[in-house]
Amino acid sequence: MSLSHTALCSSLARPIKASSNGVPFTNPKSGGPAILEIPLDKIRRPLMRTRANDPQKVKELMESIQQIGLQVPIDVLEVEGVYYGFSGCHRFEAHQRLGLPTICCKVRRGTKETLRHHMR
Ligand code: ADP
Repeated sequence: MSLSHTALCSSLARPIKASSNGVPFTNPKSGGPAILEIPLDKIRRPLMRTRANDPQKVKELMESIQQIGLQVPIDVLEVEGVYYGFSGCHRFEAHQRLGLPTICCKVRRGTKETLRHHMR
């Protein structure tokens, strides 16, 4: 893993490790969104098959992420210990293609109702 890949999460906040069993968390100071490095395979992407990414955008992001690292975390929703990603699709795919194990995420907690709303 390159240094630039990890720089974002470590510079924005002391990263709180997302536990593999999905124990929930909040930003302990503000109670607001937390900035976390999360393994790609722990983020469910329910709408992935319905929306195609622009391959050129993904390619450009891969090059940029390799050079300067991820500059803006992707938004992730955490519901009952499970992470869901609905946006940040190009950044997510760029990480997958680069073979990076984790991605820096801005995590908000929600309820099952929030999740249903996102699935509509
Ligand atoms: P996504 O589907 O990931 O949101 P977009 O092409 O719509 O893809 O937007 C790319 C986003 O990635 C922009 O908000 C940009 O600020 C962000 N970004 C984060 N890191 C980088 C980077 N290293 N190079 C270019 N853009 C980056």
